Amino acid sequence: MNKKLVVGNWKMNLTVPESTVLIEKLKKEVAKLKHVDAAVCPTYLDIYPASKEVAGSKLNLGAQDVFYEEEGAYTGEISPVALAHFVKYVIVGHSERRAMFGDTDKVVAKKAATVVAHDMTPIICVGETLHEKGDGLSKVVVMSQLETALSHLTAGEIAEAVIAYEPVWAIGTGHICKPVDAEKMATNIRALIKALYGENAAENVRVLYGGSVTDENAADFAKLKQFDGVLVGGASLDHEKFAKIASTFDAVPAAKPAKKVAKKK
Ligand code: PEP
Repeated sequence: MNKKLVVGNWKMNLTVPESTVLIEKLKKEVAKLKHVDAAVCPTYLDIYPASKEVAGSKLNLGAQDVFYEEEGAYTGEISPVALAHFVKYVIVGHSERRAMFGDTDKVVAKKAATVVAHDMTPIICVGETLHEKGDGLSKVVVMSQLETALSHLTAGEIAEAVIAYEPVWAIGTGHICKPVDAEKMATNIRALIKALYGENAAENVRVLYGGSVTDENAADFAKLKQFDGVLVGGASLDHEKFAKIASTFDAVPAAKPAKKVAKKK
């Protein structure tokens, strides 16, 4: 069975002392989880201290982005070599990176490949804008983002990756995607992966929903068969809300059988 995954994206929030306090509270909460992997993605500045604070606990760490080169004259960027010492997951292609920092689908593909090459797990974000949704282009946009983002990965690598379907219009707005529409998109995501990389990759890849998930609506997404968890922004800054979201998923055992495939280069 695919283990559920609940990830908090802290974005550009919390100082190091503030995140220390939150991590202490979260460690106690996630210790109770049986069927869910939980992770938080602090700012880069906080990753090193946070890695010491989570050591020996069930709380995992992720980064919010990464650069695709290992070292060199890339002022302000973060190397995957440096990150790999401290985090398990790396978000790539978040809509805020795409919209504000120019991450194209091709850049996202390079970042996803870099993350895998350094033995971390990419959380590859895809999602349509409100304008694209209004034009009836949601599926076309998401499939095109996905196809490019996965283009440097093998079937075995995709089976171990995470895709986050995050409609841009649902992020930070309080407007959630209707669960039935989210489920259709997750079905499309798995169908595309099946067509391009085979059944095992399609079944084993973990698919998350993201966009205004709270402790109040998490149950609607936990019920969905095509999703394996959620990527949470705002609500992940509150330990009680994040813990409630994770425990909602913990209460719903995964339904899909997972068939592991060997990585092929
Ligand atoms: C996000 O930024 O990935 C996100 C899902 O944010 P929020 O939960 O605040 O909508």
